[in-house]
Amino acid sequence: MTLINSQFLKVVKDEVGSKIEHRVNIFKTLNPDVSLIRLDSGDVVRPLPPCAVNALVKASKEMGNASTFKGRAPAQGYSFLIEAIAKHDFRSRKIKIDTDEIFINDGSKEDISGIGDILCRDNRVGVIDPVFQTYVESNVIGNRAGELGDSGQWSHVIYLKSGKETGFMPEFPVVRPDVIYLCYPNDPTGCVMTKPVLKSWVDYAIKNKILLLFDATYEAFITDPDIPHSIYEIKGARRVAIEFRSFSKSAGFTGLHCGYTVIPNDIEGYSFSAESSARLNTLWMRRQTIKSYAPSYIIQCAAASLYTEEGRREIRDNVNYYMENASVLRQALQRAGFNFWGGENSPYLWVESPTGSSWDLFDRLLNTCHILSSPGERFGPRGKGFVRLSAFANQSKVILAASRLSELDM
Ligand SMILES: *Cc1c(COP(=O)(O)O)cnc(C)c1O
Repeated sequence: MTLINSQFLKVVKDEVGSKIEHRVNIFKTLNPDVSLIRLDSGDVVRPLPPCAVNALVKASKEMGNASTFKGRAPAQGYSFLIEAIAKHDFRSRKIKIDTDEIFINDGSKEDISGIGDILCRDNRVGVIDPVFQTYVESNVIGNRAGELGDSGQWSHVIYLKSGKETGFMPEFPVVRPDVIYLCYPNDPTGCVMTKPVLKSWVDYAIKNKILLLFDATYEAFITDPDIPHSIYEIKGARRVAIEFRSFSKSAGFTGLHCGYTVIPNDIEGYSFSAESSARLNTLWMRRQTIKSYAPSYIIQCAAASLYTEEGRREIRDNVNYYMENASVLRQALQRAGFNFWGGENSPYLWVESPTGSSWDLFDRLLNTCHILSSPGERFGPRGKGFVRLSAFANQSKVILAASRLSELDM
């Protein structure tokens, strides 16, 4: 008899996903000729930057030549990419990150969900609600979440309150978590943390010996010079924070898969049984050699090309395109009189439903504007009452969506 990981059964059903699908199917049956504008997506639509395409072609040719062929990539990633990251993402911001602290991966989701491998099952995990569900669900699979209550919250997870009263900034929890996930610019609310606020979290983590898992996937969308791009811009963060980065959203790599994780050598973890502490960096390095391979040479060459002058310009163009979409959506929402957050320094807009029900607004956008949105419940129980709109869409469609949105009679 095969026993399964019974925790898994708790996340197998995607009830919100089924509810969305049901509504969309009805709409399509009733309106077979209407094409929906999809503003629900966390996936990009723009093609790869030319620098990445050129790098892919060049690297592929090298792979087909006996003298330049490469086999398996080094477990941590190729040093040419790690060097480029250390230089452009950190040293240029006066942040000291050593090359042995950077791990190249197949996209940040892999490591965000995999990091639990080196952490004790007994750690209490803290998340902001609403939240990117991978943080919660990977801990359900990893047996850290407890039971799912009627409220939609897990009994062992500590939910950091974050509502519109605080501009969706989290409040310090009453019960101390061992690990806290932070994501800024935030998915789904589009909110950003200023330096003083982020500093208060780093200080709190240092004081309470908490590990911060900082998801900086949307860092490239920051335009405001006062918003930190990396948690390591805050003094002391090297002792308590792991940072996840990705090329997915900024460079359109969702179909290529490449990102990286920073684990500073200063972070120590403790064990009840062992006498001494261990560096998380050392544990992670070993975990990588056991469980995964770094992405292929071809993909890493494409990622490295993003750090050339040309590559950085092409990424800026990409980001600007999406941020123009966000700005068009912001103006439309303002005109229609909605309360909303985000859309600045972030490709997401978090819109409050005037009736208090996410589904009311979801249905209205679907049936009146032919816009597909993400109901807040997709991001946890406290997402109720909001929908997320995404700027990852074709500009002409966004303009059409905006004109319909701005005419909505509230
Ligand atoms: C898209 C997304 C990721 C995943 O990025 P990949 O590098 O494509 O795995 C991680 N975190 C958040 C919040 C995201 O929205």
